[in-house]
Amino acid sequence: DSALGPAHPRWIRVNAVKSTLDEQLDSTFKGFKLVATIKEVMDSPAGSKVICLDGHVPNLVAASPGVDFTKTQAYKKGEIILQDKASCFPAYLLDPRPDGADGDIIDACSAPGNKTTHLAGILAERGAELNGRKQRIHAFEKDKARAKTLAKMIGVAGSEGITTVHPGADFLRADPESPEFAKVTCLLLDPSCSGSGIVGRDDAPEFCLPSASASASASAGGGAKPGPPAKKRKREEKEDAEKKTAVLPLLDDDGVPSSEGLSPQALESRIQALASFQLSIILHAFSFPAARRVTYSTCSIYPGENEGVVIKALESDVAKRRGWKVLKRDEQVRGMREWDVRGWKDECGGNEEIAEGCIRAERGDGRGTMGFF
Ligand code: SAM
Repeated sequence: DSALGPAHPRWIRVNAVKSTLDEQLDSTFKGFKLVATIKEVMDSPAGSKVICLDGHVPNLVAASPGVDFTKTQAYKKGEIILQDKASCFPAYLLDPRPDGADGDIIDACSAPGNKTTHLAGILAERGAELNGRKQRIHAFEKDKARAKTLAKMIGVAGSEGITTVHPGADFLRADPESPEFAKVTCLLLDPSCSGSGIVGRDDAPEFCLPSASASASASAGGGAKPGPPAKKRKREEKEDAEKKTAVLPLLDDDGVPSSEGLSPQALESRIQALASFQLSIILHAFSFPAARRVTYSTCSIYPGENEGVVIKALESDVAKRRGWKVLKRDEQVRGMREWDVRGWKDECGGNEEIAEGCIRAERGDGRGTMGFF
């Protein structure tokens, strides 16, 4: 946690498919001191047993740094998921409802599955039928090795009954007119990005290793660094896949090589390439006939991948034709509208309403999150 300061809390999402907050307070967190603010958690000595219930995202707990939850039964059984607070924003903001209010949901870029399983948790808590065939979460993942990690995480989290994994499937090639997607009302878009909001975290490297998707995703956006020879890469990918399936992911990882250390020009062209790929993901989502809500997120801090992409998406023909707009802050789900770190107005062409509709999280600002949009 060096780049975040020693006080970065551990964020634990209670998986509503398998457990409840009360159950976890009585078991995993038994003996922990409950405090009122994240600051108290962050100020507590490493390893001390202090927790706070998050005020923005339901079923989310901040625990004092240095406590290892990966050894707990709850973690092994998928009752709790270690997921940064900011990474919990997209699924909660998408606000999926059980069948009747909403239809099917697409998670366009799913592995390792933090947000896919969060969507299932939200639906479960709202009374969705998890083992029926009426409502589906379609989880796309272009990289086959990463799709295995995704399937494993969905299994451990107990959400396989409502989720259809599309392993190796490129979301950009999914046909919006296909009957399979006719009932898709919500799409969660969390495409590959520069990862600049998470670089430097101690727990990042294992899950942010360049993998097959690194070249695939970055070439979708262009700008990939030349990789190792094919044979070596294959071996590394195999090892990588094995390592990833050994334990559940601790972070949203991306599979894209870090942008750290690039020259300013190389970084600029990398961001441009990623942004054009990210925009294509949003425009494709906009074209699903029954779609009503979309969330777009990155773990990048660069406006070029964030507000810049949102503005271009809003200016697109498909957005104008189908009436896509940014949800105003006061129309957002409770908790998210109270989160006060918003988009950068200058990067939104000075449009206050759009900037306020965007949500940011800043690393190291005392709120205990990684950098996120
Ligand atoms: N949403 C994930 C989570 O919360 O655990 C993290 C997703 S990661 C930021 C982006 C993922 O998108 C990578 O696994 C990458 O392989 C995948 N991806 C990239 N381009 C894709 C595409 N065109 N279709 C489907 N998946 C894609």
